[in-house]
Amino acid sequence: MTLSTCDEIIELIPAFVLGALDADEAARVATHVAACPRCRAEAESFRDVVGLLPYAAGALEPPPHVKRQLFARIAAVSENPVAPAAQRPQRSTVRPPVSGGWVVPALTLMLALIIGFGAAMLEARGRADQLAAELAANRQTLRSMEAQIAELRQTAQAVEAQLIAAQRELEETRTQLVASQRELQEMQASGGKDEQLVSFIAAPQTVSRPLGTTERAPEQASARMFMQPGHNRLVLLIYGLKSAEPGKVYRLWLAKGDQAIAIGTVTVGPDGVAEFVVDAPEPMDAYDQVMITLDEVDTAARPSEEVIFEANL
Ligand SMILES: [Zn+2]
Repeated sequence: MTLSTCDEIIELIPAFVLGALDADEAARVATHVAACPRCRAEAESFRDVVGLLPYAAGALEPPPHVKRQLFARIAAVSENPVAPAAQRPQRSTVRPPVSGGWVVPALTLMLALIIGFGAAMLEARGRADQLAAELAANRQTLRSMEAQIAELRQTAQAVEAQLIAAQRELEETRTQLVASQRELQEMQASGGKDEQLVSFIAAPQTVSRPLGTTERAPEQASARMFMQPGHNRLVLLIYGLKSAEPGKVYRLWLAKGDQAIAIGTVTVGPDGVAEFVVDAPEPMDAYDQVMITLDEVDTAARPSEEVIFEANL
């Protein structure tokens, strides 16, 4: 291939690389470039430069006809590289008689402007992208902090609910404990009472005496008293007695001569059993008679006619 062909092709390479040639010319350049290492190197170096352009392509891509005109003009000028400078002012010529010496700097300047503008665009876009990325990161951080706060708030609510539940449980436990203690005290007290009762009854100096029943006593009713000579204590064990009807009470009386003293009331359990322990005002030897009557609750001045048990001492 001849040198002139190469020169011709090299003139077309910028337009070729920018895609501004018509199909025939583009095919010619492509065929030549495929076969010619020198022109291929030229085309590739242009392509490297033009490769930077896509960043500005959106803003700077000229319409195809402008491109065509521009490169046609460049090509026309290149065809007359030896045109004399004196012909330049002639406006009648179709092709501007611009020297080839002008063309290459013009093209270079244009490319430099394109590249410069592209670089500026690239830089601005890079900065915008960076800011957008920072904004997105900040937004994400904010969102994650909001999520954490919501989670903490939820945790705090759960802890508070647990605390309230725990306090309630504690109060219930405390109430149960108080009830248990009371029950225990009652059991100890009754246990102590029973023990006292048993040891009194079992004592060798204790004398036991049955009480007689009247016709008012239930058929199976029986009562027995325990006392010690010279001592005030009196223990009564009663069986087979019904609970007193409402408003009435079984009352124990001790009589001395014609004077009867109300000693206390006897409570009958649901099993018909009553245990009664009392310390009389005087030693039991001082009394002549013991009596249990069914009285009105509020009449403790004298025994009623309803005598259930009685015994002379
Ligand atoms: Zn060539």
